[in-house]
Amino acid sequence: MTPEQFRSHGHQLVDWMADYLRDVGHRRVVPETTPGAVTRALPERPPEQAEPFEQVVADFERLILPGMTHWNHPGWFAYFAANNSPPSILAEMLTATLGAQCMSWQTSPAATELEQVTMRWLARMLELPAGFTGVIQDTASTATLVALLSARERASGFAGERLGVGPEQGLRVYASAEAHSSIAKGVKLAGYGAEALRSIPVDERYALQPDALGEAMARDAAAGLVPACVVATVGSTSSTAIDPLPAVAELCRRHGAWLHVDAAWAGSAAVVPELRWILDGVEHADSLVFNPHKWLLVNFDLSAYFVRDVDTLLRTFTITPEFLRTAHDPDVVNFRDWGIQLGRRFRALKLWFVIRSYGVEGLRSMVRRHVALAREFAGWVEADSEFELLAPAALGLVCFRYRPAAMATDGPGLDGLNRKLLARVNASGRVFLTHTALRGRYAIRLAVGQRCTEREHVEEAWRLVRAAAHDLARQPPSDGPAR
Ligand SMILES: *Cc1c(COP(=O)(O)O)cnc(C)c1O
Repeated sequence: MTPEQFRSHGHQLVDWMADYLRDVGHRRVVPETTPGAVTRALPERPPEQAEPFEQVVADFERLILPGMTHWNHPGWFAYFAANNSPPSILAEMLTATLGAQCMSWQTSPAATELEQVTMRWLARMLELPAGFTGVIQDTASTATLVALLSARERASGFAGERLGVGPEQGLRVYASAEAHSSIAKGVKLAGYGAEALRSIPVDERYALQPDALGEAMARDAAAGLVPACVVATVGSTSSTAIDPLPAVAELCRRHGAWLHVDAAWAGSAAVVPELRWILDGVEHADSLVFNPHKWLLVNFDLSAYFVRDVDTLLRTFTITPEFLRTAHDPDVVNFRDWGIQLGRRFRALKLWFVIRSYGVEGLRSMVRRHVALAREFAGWVEADSEFELLAPAALGLVCFRYRPAAMATDGPGLDGLNRKLLARVNASGRVFLTHTALRGRYAIRLAVGQRCTEREHVEEAWRLVRAAAHDLARQPPSDGPAR
């Protein structure tokens, strides 16, 4: 591709992108495709000869796009949104154009320094106390693994290199029964051993019970085991439960355990002053992760990891082969030593573009809008005698179910009915919601957090939910088990 061809294809693609973002709401959120359909449409072998770019783009529209789920759709209420925004997309184009590999200061000085500056901006936006230093990781899963590895090194007196730390060390990790699956994965990957994770019961709001945590830690300590790390969740994935950080922090202090806070989704809400309380107690944490790629308009991926004890982080991750040494090493930060990967993308650029393009106030007003819409939806659920909330709707997430008078008791019947209801709602293609289990009960989740979601879209979701309930109520109950 010549520079002039690149220019002209680039202009065409940007036109395509602008149309897509403008019109995505007219598409089905979830595609009508079946497993294997895309594969069958693609050739087994790569082309030996160059193909015209126009052909590649045409096949993208013809073969790939119809098989895509549209996360930018305003009817997106599934999981948690993975947001995007025009400034972020344009910054990604620049990042790809520069193609820099930002493993150390020398390999891209401005990328390193912009990462430091934007992480300090984020720390201010979240009103994090002094003492936290930020670094961008790819995902919250990676950031939590980094925290677990750091905690393991600290708890084992940095003996890892000499001894090979494993389950025989008796290190223990604690998290609530509602903690994200990335915690269990991290414990496994960090080599604590499958036995090491203690699942702590939750209260009626699905938040970790500090008394139960205290008992578990004391019991382990008395048995000669080492409470190495507690992962507290601020905004659980199932229901946005918020663990009591001050009480958890006090237990961590008593046992010398590392406190990692997983605020992957909810952390962004702390940019809003009246929601900052969700991070009360974070001043006692050793580390915190939250995902601007979920709720702060930065496209996937960009996870912000803040850590207090940078020395421990560096002792855990630094290995410097001769070929990576530079003359600047004593004076600069080399982010390759702050995590697992060596090569690093220039992620800070899109964060900088987004914060400047929206201003902190613009981001705040979006979060406020989402939270208000979720509360409004929760109000509609509460006001309808055939529906009920299954968890407090504190932030942008509503967990609810259909419970007609004829089906008052918990059980497979009610779960199956709600499973069917959700399938019907999603089959409309207008919205996409997902589910979870809360105390064994099937719960439908409506997570408001997509940049373009307005009141009309939340209203449409409620209309579709009620219409599906109406249809199901008119069906004889004997139409077989729900799928
Ligand atoms: C989304 C989420 C994660 C995982 O985030 P990734 O960045 O995809 O790894 C972890 N914890 C919580 C609470 C989440 O909501």
